[in-house]
Amino acid sequence: MSACLFCKIAAKQIPSTAIYEDDDVVAFLDIHPAAPVHFLIVPKEHIATLADCTEHHAFLLGKMMLLAPRLAAEQGCNYVVDAQGVASGGFKTLFNTGPDGGQEVYHLHLHVIGGPHPWRG
Ligand code: 5GP
Ligand code: ZN
Repeated sequence: MSACLFCKIAAKQIPSTAIYEDDDVVAFLDIHPAAPVHFLIVPKEHIATLADCTEHHAFLLGKMMLLAPRLAAEQGCNYVVDAQGVASGGFKTLFNTGPDGGQEVYHLHLHVIGGPHPWRG
């Protein structure tokens, strides 16, 4: 059995608040949210970091990136531009890589962080 935390969450050996799953990825809420909306998109395959990805992971990475706005909208931080051209909503997407990137869990994951003005106190 893998000792990796996110492998265990993906295999449902450790509980999480899941918001999405398909054959390739899972998404679940971050246990220590940095903003009103904070979830992680995680491949089921164990890949330690973004720097370990190759061209073989292009589809997977594309899927993860395309899921971000869709799941963000479902979680309440949709990016919209109204008929007057005024934009609202939105979110941040973040891969931390390695010690200098602040990575704590060495299983690839995409942070999606948003919500109403999450960085304005
Ligand atoms: P990193 O610093 O590696 O980019 O981010 C790891 C993220 O995983 C952190 O935001 C942290 O709060 C989250 N995390 C760590 N352990 C758990 C856990 O057991 N469950 C969930 N849902 N999130 C976790
Ligand atoms: Zn893993």
